[in-house]
Amino acid sequence: MSSPLANIYTRLPVSFTHGQGVWLWDAAGRKYLDALAGIGVSCLGHAHPGLVAAISEQAARVIHTSNIYEVPQQTALAARLIELSGMQEVAFNNSGSEANEAAIKLARYYAFQRGNKHAHIITMDSSWHGRTLATLAATGSEKARKGFEPLPSGFIQVPYNDLDAVRAAGDAEPRTTAVLLEVLQGEGGIRPSDIAYLQALRRLCTERGWLLMIDEVQSGIGRTGNWFAHQWADIRPDVMTLAKGLAGGVPIGAMLAAGPAAGVFTPGSHGTTFGGGPLVCAAGLAVLDALESEKLLDNAHAVGNHLKDRLASALAGTPGVTDIRGRGLMLGIELARPCGVLAMRAMEAGLLINVTRDRVIRMLPPLILTREEADQIVAILVPLIQQFLAEKP
Ligand SMILES: *Cc1c(COP(=O)(O)O)cnc(C)c1O
Repeated sequence: MSSPLANIYTRLPVSFTHGQGVWLWDAAGRKYLDALAGIGVSCLGHAHPGLVAAISEQAARVIHTSNIYEVPQQTALAARLIELSGMQEVAFNNSGSEANEAAIKLARYYAFQRGNKHAHIITMDSSWHGRTLATLAATGSEKARKGFEPLPSGFIQVPYNDLDAVRAAGDAEPRTTAVLLEVLQGEGGIRPSDIAYLQALRRLCTERGWLLMIDEVQSGIGRTGNWFAHQWADIRPDVMTLAKGLAGGVPIGAMLAAGPAAGVFTPGSHGTTFGGGPLVCAAGLAVLDALESEKLLDNAHAVGNHLKDRLASALAGTPGVTDIRGRGLMLGIELARPCGVLAMRAMEAGLLINVTRDRVIRMLPPLILTREEADQIVAILVPLIQQFLAEKP
């Protein structure tokens, strides 16, 4: 029988009926350690009591009103995000792509207000910003873009973590308005940028009057052990985007603006039907409450270091393991050859991970992960990697 679904995803042959903490169960009662958290979304794990209560209580009162009216949950969540980030204003939407789409629109409007009618945005090789047309144009993956041309113009891709390349691109294109990047690339293979690079990029953007726009869709909301990954470099962007973990699994996106980027939008210049509704904002508030009260940033930092250390010592000297990297609970193991099959083998062994950029095993476990659970990840994953590397390619 042909599937009633569009042929978009290559799915693993499993589905889950329920979860608890970092664990998921399938219909046959098998238990899986979820070290992917729905790609960095379920940051409180599954069935977190505070999140469940917030969603249930809000659903019983009112799920949706409209941005035609005041939405107190939205105002409250924005205020909390501003407090945590030092940004100045928030526009909510429904996904990472939409948050980045809003950032791109903001950069263009900012340029337009200054007489530049063809804003250019510098983005990075191997970046990931989403699947809408503009975010695809911004994304540094030819494979994702191919076949969807013509894409919106005005994007210049440069090598990641290379300040001279940004400077040269800006010199070559005087209509440059903004730089958009992930400080720790996710889909691109858990690739970090240097702190010195980020600080110099901040200074360069300020000198040139460019907006520094940081995509924290995957790295934000405690994932790296800080509220936002750019805070490790002690900088403030002009625009920041959030999504994945922000509401613990309920769809949300947010674009935050500060400094020159604040106040650019005016009524009518942007909007969304669903964005920032009472239900999702109640969920977002419950997520921030739990991250704070359960000290989950510290946990992500400590357990992330523990997991990275354990993987490093267990895999030390294994030929074919080329790197183990990342920060907090955003970790990658790079192998010397494509290893997509490991996602399936790990699933069969009761562990959920995925492989990105063909050769990088990616882990984004819930931020509630304990040391014991981290040790279980190591115990399942390391033999699978060793066995895989011992096979003939
Ligand atoms: C996942 C992701 C996106 C896209 O988010 P969607 O919710 O899938 O649209 C954008 N940027 C980064 C860094 C991401 O990891």
